[in-house]
Amino acid sequence: MKADQMQSLVDNMALLFGSSGVVVALFDCQDKLVYANRAFRELTNLAEDEYLYWPDLIRRNYQSPEGLHIETEDVEAWLDSAYDRRWKLPYREFELDLKDGRWIQLAETMIPETGLLAIGIEITSSKTAVSKLRRDYVQAMVTAETDPLTGLGNRRALERLTSLLENAVHQSGVSILIIDIDQFKEFNDQYGHLAGDDCLRQVAKAIQSGLRESGDYALRIGGDEFLVVLHDTPMQVALNIAERIRLRLVESALPHEDMPDGVVTVSVGVARAERLEAGSINALIKKADQALYEAKQAGRNQVLVRSD
Ligand code: GH3
Ligand code: MG
Repeated sequence: MKADQMQSLVDNMALLFGSSGVVVALFDCQDKLVYANRAFRELTNLAEDEYLYWPDLIRRNYQSPEGLHIETEDVEAWLDSAYDRRWKLPYREFELDLKDGRWIQLAETMIPETGLLAIGIEITSSKTAVSKLRRDYVQAMVTAETDPLTGLGNRRALERLTSLLENAVHQSGVSILIIDIDQFKEFNDQYGHLAGDDCLRQVAKAIQSGLRESGDYALRIGGDEFLVVLHDTPMQVALNIAERIRLRLVESALPHEDMPDGVVTVSVGVARAERLEAGSINALIKKADQALYEAKQAGRNQVLVRSD
């Protein structure tokens, strides 16, 4: 494009976009700025009469405490990589962030024999709304998977945990404990539903305090039934953990008149698998359930492993 044609284009752009809130700039085919409206100059920290080459504009922004946020340790390497994309496509869109936290959606159009036209709008508020939505969504997921009474995971959490576990690599197997309060129906009948709820919370606490920091998960999967998943745990360790939880409840000495020792107790069924594949968590839960049933039959307040 001839110089006078370019000048007339620039004059027209100034007329159209000079005081617009939309960000507008035109770079010529040497990547030198030939037009920038007020919004673009404010964004990139450029004075009224400055017409920099694009790489110099970036270098200046990199040094400056204001303007575009350029995330790099090495601005020259950043420019090299930016030139892998700049001037490569007839049209592209991307998001830019500013050092003051604002976000701009920028569209670049290559105009043959003229240059590169950049048009942008501020999207800060929708960006913030999106991240708030994302936060709300995560919060909703957590709430949906949490048992409100005890704060432990619920059945829905178990579904997700199941697929995570079945697809993970386990060094030394996975153990499952199913813990059920003994004669909890009588407890409710005797002390009332509210005291029952409180008892459930106490049992949840006793279970959690018996677990290790990482790799152990406790869930409430039914009325008075809890499930513990012990990742990478040999059988002896799983049994120790189960026994620790059982004893902790005996020590807590929550009164339950109908029980032989007069306190709330639990029975625990344990099962373990060396390796997991699709469907094996369900099979493990069944085995632990069977062990729990046997523990109940054998007189309650005990830990039992299902023997095949
Ligand atoms: P077992 O020793 O064989 O486990 O006997 P159990 O009485 O504990 O077994 P059962 O399954 O018959 O009773 C469980 C009771 O748990 C029945 C129900 O009243 C009570 N329950 C279930 N969910 C809740 C709850 O959210 N709060 C309270 N307070 N009680 C609950
Ligand atoms: Mg029970």
